[in-house]
Amino acid sequence: MENLRKSDPAVLKAMGLELDRQKANIELIASENIVSEAVIEAMGSVLTNKYAEGYPGKRYYGGCEHVDIVEDLARDRAKELFGAEHVNVQPHSGAQANLGVYLAALKAGDTVLGMNLAHGGHLTHGSPVNASGILYNFVAYGVREDNFRIDYDDVRKAAFKHRPRMLVAGASAYPRTIDFEALASIANDVGALFMVDMAHIAGLVAAGLHPSPVPHAHFVTTTTHKTLRGPRGGMILCKKPWAQAIDKAMFPGTQGGPLMHVIASKAVAFGEALDPSFKVYAQNVIDNARVLADTLIGEGINIVSGGTDNHLMLIDTRGVGITGKEAEHVLDSVGITVNKNAIPFDTTSPFITSGIRLGTPAATSRGMDQDAMKSIGQIIASVLKAPKDEAVLDKARANVKELTDRFPLYPNLQY
Ligand code: PLP
Repeated sequence: MENLRKSDPAVLKAMGLELDRQKANIELIASENIVSEAVIEAMGSVLTNKYAEGYPGKRYYGGCEHVDIVEDLARDRAKELFGAEHVNVQPHSGAQANLGVYLAALKAGDTVLGMNLAHGGHLTHGSPVNASGILYNFVAYGVREDNFRIDYDDVRKAAFKHRPRMLVAGASAYPRTIDFEALASIANDVGALFMVDMAHIAGLVAAGLHPSPVPHAHFVTTTTHKTLRGPRGGMILCKKPWAQAIDKAMFPGTQGGPLMHVIASKAVAFGEALDPSFKVYAQNVIDNARVLADTLIGEGINIVSGGTDNHLMLIDTRGVGITGKEAEHVLDSVGITVNKNAIPFDTTSPFITSGIRLGTPAATSRGMDQDAMKSIGQIIASVLKAPKDEAVLDKARANVKELTDRFPLYPNLQY
């Protein structure tokens, strides 16, 4: 960072503070991860200089022969990782990947059946403030009030009632395994296209530890930065007959030049995910989540749906008499980073909420094991039960420090 130190100490200082924050805190935001230094190196490279509108072999700019190699590596590795027929690695984000599919497959005003945002779905699955909800007629399915699991009978009823052009599955805050085969059969029975947004679980799918949506869906979208542990970005996988439409929808449909430095970094991350060690990592993510949920339940904390099958869980904070916002704030004050999150059938505003979402991908990446998860669960429970007790909070801070010292993050990085 010698150049940055000389040319822009203000930016470097803020970067240093963020690095220190990441080192000193336990990251439990379910959508975040900690990438390898190789992934960071590929992103911080001269590939950012290159315009490469188009696709490998068919670019609108000269000098693309080397970035073509990079994009081909990313595409081939992603295809191998997920067994996909066609891959587009250019979406700048998960939101753009979803928009790309909608643009390729829908006409404005078409009806789409997607998961209710308030039950764990994502903004880009039809929220009225998002392009998806503005341009298309989204109708929602949700979870059952008695067990907080997707009600597949309800999805089927809604599909027959609304006859959507597309069924969208996938979620940001759903702790249970999604039955893609069942959803594909519903889509098939009403003649709808089937899209799965696997952003949260992509790493688990890559490792073969969550059923894959790829054989069942016309389109699978994902982010590359969550459980998949790559750079911030998006990707679309699709069946061969949709390949051209998807590529056209990304460029020139929704984006100009691809971010070649990010695509290089995606290629590196996919290479890492193909390594057998990634399966061990993904198994640890799931095992850690289960231990964390069990510890919290053992401490009397209410976990929505009674546990987790994947990398995340939702705590219903009403049981300890505080809001999600208060829980996020007090945990932050002891060095545990989480986000407030609406729980299904929440009656408070999205700025307050009755829950928090916890996930294990980032903590697992820094090596935290099941013993560490037990300790983290006990710390969280102690803080949530006594959020105003300074002695409890001080003890929690000391316990967090002991854990972050024991599992150091980026030991060789200093900005
Ligand atoms: N899809 C799902 C299921 C997500 O959880 C997210 C992000 O949280 C996205 C899409 C959007 O990704 P991005 O923030 O890269 O636009």
